[in-house]
Amino acid sequence: MATGKINVSVENIFPLIKKFLYSDHEIFLRELISNATDATLKLKHLASIGEAKVEYGNPMIEVKVDKDNKRIHIIDQGIGMTEEEVKKYINEVAFSGAEEFLDKYKDAEKDAGIIGHFGLGFYSAFMVAEKVEIITKSHKEEPAVHWSCDGSPEFSIEPSDKTERGTEIILHIAEDSTEFLEDARIRELLVKYNKFMPIPIKFGTKTETLPKPEGAKEDDPAPTKEVDDIINNPNPAWTKQPTDLSEEDYKNFYRELYPMQFEEPLFHIHLNVDYPFNLTGILYFPKLTNDLSIQKDKIQLYQNQVFVTDNVEGIVPEFLTMLKGVIDSPDIPLNVSRSYLQADGAVKKISSYITRKVADKLTSLFKNNREDFEQKWNDIKVVIEYGMLSEDKFFDKADKFALYPSVDGDYYTFEELEAKIKDNQTDKDDKLVVLYASDKEAQHSYIEAAQKKGYEVLLLDSPIVPHLMQKLETSKENLSFVRVDADHVDNLIKKEDTAISKLSEEEKEKLKSEIEEVTKDKGYTIQMEAMESSASPFIITEPEFMRRMKE
Ligand code: ADP
Ligand code: MG
Repeated sequence: MATGKINVSVENIFPLIKKFLYSDHEIFLRELISNATDATLKLKHLASIGEAKVEYGNPMIEVKVDKDNKRIHIIDQGIGMTEEEVKKYINEVAFSGAEEFLDKYKDAEKDAGIIGHFGLGFYSAFMVAEKVEIITKSHKEEPAVHWSCDGSPEFSIEPSDKTERGTEIILHIAEDSTEFLEDARIRELLVKYNKFMPIPIKFGTKTETLPKPEGAKEDDPAPTKEVDDIINNPNPAWTKQPTDLSEEDYKNFYRELYPMQFEEPLFHIHLNVDYPFNLTGILYFPKLTNDLSIQKDKIQLYQNQVFVTDNVEGIVPEFLTMLKGVIDSPDIPLNVSRSYLQADGAVKKISSYITRKVADKLTSLFKNNREDFEQKWNDIKVVIEYGMLSEDKFFDKADKFALYPSVDGDYYTFEELEAKIKDNQTDKDDKLVVLYASDKEAQHSYIEAAQKKGYEVLLLDSPIVPHLMQKLETSKENLSFVRVDADHVDNLIKKEDTAISKLSEEEKEKLKSEIEEVTKDKGYTIQMEAMESSASPFIITEPEFMRRMKE
């Protein structure tokens, strides 16, 4: 048996590790399962290029809790490590990673917003264990090794008789961490962090009911079988191509993400970009309800299918935090403070990419099925209005699809509204006056009076709308929102027919002969009377038979 000393400058790193983000001790399991996953995926890669002479098969990762002996085992069938590799990767690499992280953490400790979600890796095992063993056999033709460390910088390393390829990590759980010896607690962590990891993870077995054999009697019990309980879905929807997924697949994935959520989402947005940053994901527009337990379901952030957090503040623009779903990106730095995160260039790009995708999706929903969009408007307006207020780029796009409902249930875009009222609803300063009611019942007599005058009255009652009106008044020229019960409603000016040509008779004659000159022999009729509702000073008409001849 060999012993050695872990080569670190900070001798007291273990107390530091113990202290590290106290409430986050639970991430040890995610870190160890991530390593097991990495080891399995590395083997898959080596096997595929012929560098590992092994049958890759259908490897899984197994987690076992041995409450009597106060141990947790994490077993993989991955690449394994030789003795040299244990020395290099565990004693040096893992440790230097942990050390570097803790150095950074110490500096950042004052910054309350630190996101210490990653970085400690293998050594996070010492947050919950007083002793850690590694029994590992490499895919290479080399003997298995057994490494053991009791939480001091000393370790021992000796041969092992392990015959199957892969690595087993054994944690001897410390007195203050016995909560992790409860099956229910471990299952909770596995579901929280590993639900969508790419390699199947087994935790115990479960009983499966089989179909009754032929000729079985009515009250014969159905036969059962013990099968591996695989806690994860290794191929979640967001890792697939949108073209391979149906509407139903997206809905099913929503239920998988939020099993307690019974309301269906309104629509989804599949995110998929690999340049200049890597990001995949699916966002859902939920039906907003008053049930607070449902608002708890938030967007979840993953890195390579490993759950990181459901606090995406700083990564997703605030107005989109009301959405649900997942985003997965290895390009989001996570061992940094929130303020750093917000200033980070890559994160800024991610945030504006998400905003753009959401705006594009809304644009296409609006264009492709206006009726459906109108029906959903009530459920999505808060997000859109909030977005228009807070993000100028979103405003520019949303301005084309944001809807303004009338008291009679018609929906106008701003442009449509403007066209409808511009000749009929201006004030003495020539400002366009948008009349609105905020309460249909209470203001009904004013609404009726305004409608009698031929005015269009909107129903704008969402809490954000007053702010949005202000925004619209400042970003569009000559616009004013006036509530239907305000006193100057009576003074609105109905514009005279502005479409009448302003040219004098003489000018008209001159222009007419010039046009005739240019178009002579074409058989066109030239009319100098302006069209109603158009600013055209003249009209050229081509006889129908000539038009047809060209077809
Ligand atoms: P990281 O995963 O970021 O590299 P870790 O501290 O988690 O850092 O792990 C350090 C190294 O130890 C890994 O890079 C890997 O080489 C090795 N290692 C850890 N766990 C395993 C395992 N289950 N199988 C094979 N190698 C492992
Ligand atoms: Mg790791």
